[in-house]
Amino acid sequence: MSEPQRHEGEATKPIEHFDQMPLHASLLQGVKEMGYTQPTPIQAGAIPAAVLGRDVIGTAQTGSGKTAAFLLPILERLMGAPTGRIQALILTPTRELAIQAEQFLTKLGRHTHLRGAAVYGGVGMEPQERALRRGAEIIVATPGRLLDHMRRGYVDFRSLRILVLDEGDRMLDMGFLPDVRTIIERLPRERQTMLFSATMPPEIVRLSRDFLSNPRMIRMQETTVAAAGVSHTAVLVDGDRKTEVLLGLLEREDMISVLVFARTKHRADRLAHQLSQRGVRVGVIHGDKSQGQRVRALEGFRRGHHPVLVATDIAARGIDVEGVSHVINYDVPHEPETYVHRVGRTARAQRQGQAITLVAREESDDFDTIEKFLGLTIPREGQWTHRSGPSMGPRGHAGTHPASRHGPSRGRPSGQRRQGSWRF
Ligand code: ADP
Ligand code: MG
Repeated sequence: MSEPQRHEGEATKPIEHFDQMPLHASLLQGVKEMGYTQPTPIQAGAIPAAVLGRDVIGTAQTGSGKTAAFLLPILERLMGAPTGRIQALILTPTRELAIQAEQFLTKLGRHTHLRGAAVYGGVGMEPQERALRRGAEIIVATPGRLLDHMRRGYVDFRSLRILVLDEGDRMLDMGFLPDVRTIIERLPRERQTMLFSATMPPEIVRLSRDFLSNPRMIRMQETTVAAAGVSHTAVLVDGDRKTEVLLGLLEREDMISVLVFARTKHRADRLAHQLSQRGVRVGVIHGDKSQGQRVRALEGFRRGHHPVLVATDIAARGIDVEGVSHVINYDVPHEPETYVHRVGRTARAQRQGQAITLVAREESDDFDTIEKFLGLTIPREGQWTHRSGPSMGPRGHAGTHPASRHGPSRGRPSGQRRQGSWRF
């Protein structure tokens, strides 16, 4: 991995072991039990500044350990603090991320007296109300539900010292900004604020000046914004043949744990139904599912109960599932950043993974934009159906690649499937 850009004459010797970090022994114990020995570059870059109370904007690839990069300084700074008051708030864009960050927090802070609570929608208010009233020291929340609690009047932020926006660019985009503003207006002005994300468009950095003061910018220098261990492929396919091609891909023996992204909730449901009718063990997760269904879909995927999970972009950011072998874009995302976040669900913590994108003719412009954004040349396989007329021929790289079959593994004899594969 790369080195962080260093500023302000900071020590240049890289921190190679957690023991060299300005962290309390009880936190180092938690780190050790998580199985971490070496800090990742974003951790090495951000933690020393963050424990001093500096505002931080941290940008690093997906899967590079940003969660611990803000949780450890929070825990460190609150080590000697009085209990029973809310002192740190972490805002995340999805319920799943709130749950996940709170789980990381519980593990890392196991040997401290500090308590965390997750506050998110789709479940009862009462247990969360109790946690907020008794003042769990660290709250991880989605904005909408937190506001619901705040409007009821029992959330006391007077002791709050630290605010983190995880997936910071998303938290400050148009969708979330009004809620996030409302929340921040109710927080003490004297506080530390940190913003972490894999992608950080310049307009977001500009906007962040409203909320951060003189932030330390910690940005990993990478050749591409996509996670390093990901190999990218595109399959050119007619829109109406995508499911068929996907089924062909899923036959491959290396398809161990596959996250499939669809553009809409409706398309996700339809695809999951089609796959399940063809014998694929599949779960589906999107914003119209109940919270119970969302938890079951993600847990079933984590445990390998269904090795295929069809998702909308609700699962694109932040979700950390160990051993996702493939991310398949059933639909090309409109925003290149979304592609980066989706494919970042594989190749986490320096592992390897593959991203395969099914590209219909009408999606090829969007895909070209993604390729430019990544600064990579992504090989194309397959071919769109030939249509007559001079302007209708396949664009771009189509036809220049030797593989012109429709899916890399069509016609694989089913007997070659590995044991425990995704079919019944
Ligand atoms: P990000 O938020 O940057 O996408 P996460 O914080 O979700 O990444 O971490 C990705 C994975 O890497 C998690 O499974 C996490 O436990 C693991 N991880 C984090 N820091 C380290 C480390 N220093 N050493 C080994 N694994 C780590
Ligand atoms: Mg993250």
